[in-house]
Amino acid sequence: MTATTGKDTSTITLGTGGGGDVDVDVVIIGAGFSGIRMLIETRRLGLTARLIEAGSDVGGTWYWNKYPGARTDSQAWVYGFPLDEVRNDWRWEERFATQPQTHAYIRHVTDTFDLWSDITLDTRVGSAVFDDDARTWTVTTDGGETISSKAVITATGQLSLPYYPSFDGLSDFEGDWYQTQNWPDDGVDFRGKRVAIVGTGATAVQVIPIVAEDAAHLSVFQRTPNYVLPARNDKLSEHDVDVIRTNFDEIFDRAFSQPFGMDIPPAAGRIAADCTPEQQQQVLDRGWEAGGFRYLFETFDDLLVEQSTNDLAAEFIRKKIRSIVRDPETAEKLCPKDYPLGGKRPPLGHYYYETFNRPNVTLVDIGETPIRIEPKGIRAGDEFHEVDAIIFATGYDAITGTLDQIDIRGRDGRVLRERWAEGPKTHLGMMVDGFPNLFMVAGPQTPFANIPVVAEYCVGWLSRLLRVMHERGADTAEPTTEAVQEFSQLVEAVLDATVLRQGGKRSWFLGTNIPGKPAAAVMWLGGVGAFREVAEAEVDGGYGKVVMESATANVSG
Ligand code: NAP
Repeated sequence: MTATTGKDTSTITLGTGGGGDVDVDVVIIGAGFSGIRMLIETRRLGLTARLIEAGSDVGGTWYWNKYPGARTDSQAWVYGFPLDEVRNDWRWEERFATQPQTHAYIRHVTDTFDLWSDITLDTRVGSAVFDDDARTWTVTTDGGETISSKAVITATGQLSLPYYPSFDGLSDFEGDWYQTQNWPDDGVDFRGKRVAIVGTGATAVQVIPIVAEDAAHLSVFQRTPNYVLPARNDKLSEHDVDVIRTNFDEIFDRAFSQPFGMDIPPAAGRIAADCTPEQQQQVLDRGWEAGGFRYLFETFDDLLVEQSTNDLAAEFIRKKIRSIVRDPETAEKLCPKDYPLGGKRPPLGHYYYETFNRPNVTLVDIGETPIRIEPKGIRAGDEFHEVDAIIFATGYDAITGTLDQIDIRGRDGRVLRERWAEGPKTHLGMMVDGFPNLFMVAGPQTPFANIPVVAEYCVGWLSRLLRVMHERGADTAEPTTEAVQEFSQLVEAVLDATVLRQGGKRSWFLGTNIPGKPAAAVMWLGGVGAFREVAEAEVDGGYGKVVMESATANVSG
């Protein structure tokens, strides 16, 4: 498998830092799945590393998001790494792992590889500045520490900076309010309470059915309806787990070829136009019943690129909503109508639509009416909803948000967030011109896909790059400006080949969910397999688009 590393067990050194002493070879920012996997790799390469993490534990997303119902939308067995050291001793419990299970997994990986001594928790990186003369980075933290290193590797997550719109009147609200990304460790008891939830994205879709079971009443404030696909979660038997372990390599090979990085065949092998209307409905029904993202990937291969196929699949979902939700008015409000399926990332529901049949659940359509919070509840136009508690599930300043919070300065003092003012531009989502030895794992413009699989590939690619730097005696590596332009144009072109950009609905993977943020192709929408082909071509071409320099010479291949 191209993505896995660690076959070459010899260790490397990373340049000379231009003669300057450094504290460590590499500073890694973020202890989520990407950062932990990178730290395993730097150990294997024999490099010294410090990993700085803002949270009080490892886990990233899976540390912060303790809200009720939080679980993966990828199959549990591919929400992890194809590492021999952890393949046989981890027991996957369910098809979609809960937050505690997923958090336990990443802690288990951290323990197995004995990584804790290189990890500093409860600490945020404030700045990372490249010194042109010494050819080193200086990283400063909010703990007042300064660390010098030869490279900085960001693993700050794609959805890690919560977005909280400022709602008028919130400071006067007399009840309790909660943010999903900052959930109390001990949970919240909603029994007997009138609860409101603002937002109906993937997070809210997980919270709503759970809170509805406890709350006296739940009012769901929906601005834009989503196409929610049924997850169809299941417990895994011992036999299931044996099958996963036995076929682990094959499963990950499949995930590395599947567009979304999941354990689903890479293609359905049919397009809608090849089927009769009856066959089309049969195929869509099978995909719907199979659960999870199978509806997107096991039905028609042209679903995300051919408008008529997308319309067909979207209409099928609307029919399902109308058949599940008993109140026709509520069903109609839940039907997305003016943007394509996939234009916003479809959430997976665990009896989501069914929840609106409960007598204690009300859907409030705020598509045309911004809400105002008052001391006793929420006003939406003429309607007032008295509530005891509000849950905000309003999303993230995705992809670039967290990186923008760090003052990252490259060659000649150029500032990364200024460079990316119109949207991120990278070489293969892993490097930026003018920022030598700044590497990114699962960064902007990497595939829109199951994160651990993307992280595994990026780590493997960077590991091979570091080896080549070692072989060439390079201190630094950075892509050419042309390479960054070329790749960014390709990312745009790939997006334009889909039906996803049109519709203009607020979507985090287009950067359009944050008021004022420029719309940009912040992610690679061509699938993991196609991304790998582009990235492997760079390796096969001897890293021709990457400039490598030693203290005295250009050592590019
Ligand atoms: P999101 O999809 O961006 O949803 C945010 C919600 O808040 C939307 O319904 C949005 O409405 C609403 N909202 C934002 N500002 C508002 C305002 N001023 N007034 C009223 N409503 C407002 O965010 P998310 O649900 O946190 O999910 C983000 C991504 O995280 C997902 O797409 C997914 O990739 C990931 N995620 C994954 C999992 C998983 O894998 N298990 C679980 C949760 C999240 P509009 O749509 O109208 O903007």
